Amino acid sequence: MNGCTFCAIAGGAADADLVALRTGRVFVIPAPRQRPRNQGHALVVPAGHVVSLHDAAPAVRDELFAVVAQLTGAVGALYGAEGSIVFQHNITPGPVPFHLHVHVVPRFPGDDLTMPDPAMAEVPRAVRLRQAAALRQALSPGR
Ligand SMILES: [Zn+2]
Repeated sequence: MNGCTFCAIAGGAADADLVALRTGRVFVIPAPRQRPRNQGHALVVPAGHVVSLHDAAPAVRDELFAVVAQLTGAVGALYGAEGSIVFQHNITPGPVPFHLHVHVVPRFPGDDLTMPDPAMAEVPRAVRLRQAAALRQALSPGR
């Protein structure tokens, strides 16, 4: 064991009863921490230990987001949610090895979920232009 919580679940050593769906490459569990007004928050997790989205094999990413889309389509009928928000961290500093996962959070009227953070502030256009140029270069095909 590598001490990774998600690997333990993937391998069946822990929380098998929390696994809501298991496909060839990913599984779904309810998030361990959920806002009281956004109950139903779930995590879609690759079965193999992958740290970041950009480390995941294309087939894993495809399956990961296919299941994410399944979940975003299900939250209405499942929880009476009006919609959802999807987010994903790439490495969170902490004692437990980080294992890629995607959050799917149901949204309800009046849930007061503040994403993005209220500290978000407008960025000057010049800064955004520099960011756009850097992104263009980083994302251009054949780089
Ligand atoms: Zn892991």
